[in-house]
Amino acid sequence: MRHHEVLVIGGGNAGISLAARLLRDGLTDVAIVAPQPVHRYKPLLNYVGGGQATMADLERPMSDVVPDGCTWIRDSVVAVDPAGMTVRTRGGAELHCSTLVLCPGLVEDWDATPGLLQAYADGWAASTYVPGSTPQVWPRLTSLRGGSVLFTVPPEPASCGPTALKPLLMACDHWRRAGVLRDLDVRLLLPAATATGVPEADEVLDRAFADYGIEVLRESRMESVEWDVHAVTVESPTGRRVLEDVAFAHAVPHYRAPGWIADGGLAADPTPGLVDVDPYTLRSRHSESIWAIGDAADLATRPSGGGLRKQVDILSANLDAARKEKPLRRYDGYTVMPITVSRRRLMLDEVDREGRASPSVPFLDPFIPRRWTWFFDRYVLPQVYWRRILRGKV
Ligand SMILES: Cc1cc2nc3c(=O)[nH]c(=O)nc-3n(C[C@H](O)[C@H](O)[C@H](O)COP(=O)(O)OP(=O)(O)OC[C@H]3O[C@@H](n4cnc5c(N)ncnc54)[C@H](O)[C@@H]3O)c2cc1C
Repeated sequence: MRHHEVLVIGGGNAGISLAARLLRDGLTDVAIVAPQPVHRYKPLLNYVGGGQATMADLERPMSDVVPDGCTWIRDSVVAVDPAGMTVRTRGGAELHCSTLVLCPGLVEDWDATPGLLQAYADGWAASTYVPGSTPQVWPRLTSLRGGSVLFTVPPEPASCGPTALKPLLMACDHWRRAGVLRDLDVRLLLPAATATGVPEADEVLDRAFADYGIEVLRESRMESVEWDVHAVTVESPTGRRVLEDVAFAHAVPHYRAPGWIADGGLAADPTPGLVDVDPYTLRSRHSESIWAIGDAADLATRPSGGGLRKQVDILSANLDAARKEKPLRRYDGYTVMPITVSRRRLMLDEVDREGRASPSVPFLDPFIPRRWTWFFDRYVLPQVYWRRILRGKV
């Protein structure tokens, strides 16, 4: 059986930046299990859906991002055995390790919304969250001249869910400039009572929704999708409602963690099956040698790439501290939900676990939409991501 000192599951933002950081810290035997040939900088997907980027801007071959000195096992994990510190892969390999870090992200829960997968196959639904469909989003939105259009924010757990508002608000700005906004019935489903749960940010967003004339259905979820007649059944505490004649649905699927996490006894709750960790130290509550960060970890805060910058830093320090039996550092739940309120203005919405403002630039109000923050999010951050974050330098 093959052995590695540190085995990282998943080659997304979390897995790649952590592996790079550990190698920079001086570890020599770090392996990543990751099946996919392409790495994506996911925040740009929303800019593809808003007509401001292409898929080529956000995709790189995995071979370009796996750090030098890291062993890349091109396979996917199907089972984990915490007692034996082993994982089994789809290809039939058994891998043993001293330290295991789980960062496989979330998977789409198509069964949660009957009919939605067919709606995607049909092309009537598409979203920035399903990369295969993302290039269709902006052409579909900009071809609308009237009728009804639906957007959804996915319920938790979701990958930076409130950013699903980006294509909505960029499209509204476009429709207004094109003179067709008043001919469109724009509807938004929010899974909770407010868009972000952060009062200062919600105030800004509620103003934007009112300004564009968006009908907001709160505490609402897609129950099912009748893709053949272009209808969506919505459930909310006040009952069921069928939205008919929807011309296009930017309908984001619901999410859950991969099932092998709960099957291995590492989740507190099989649904949604997130890795049960101490949200401060990032260590599993079920095994001293297992840790988790990123979208699949239950960190009691909204998952985001921005949050990962801090998680990677703290986890690399904590792995070292654990080896030396020193006190562990604590993650304050810092996260970010950057939302464009128009084509070229963006609110950063950086907060800690309690929802308190936590600006990266001292004294900057993270709830004021600005033009330079849009430019930073669209053009500067992607460069920082490829050159520094994925190389373990941030
Ligand atoms: C549309 C969209 C927009 C976003 N916008 C923003 C934003 O503006 N700002 C922000 O900060 N964050 C944003 N995010 C969130 C951010 O991209 C995620 O929080 C981040 O990518 C999570 O990284 P991760 O490595 O945990 O998960 P992922 O990026 O999902 O990576 C997980 C990897 O694990 C692999 N994997 C899965 N199962 C297995 C297995 N069984 N074995 C091995 N490997 C496996 C997957 O193939 C995948 O590559 C956005 C996300 C989306 C989807």
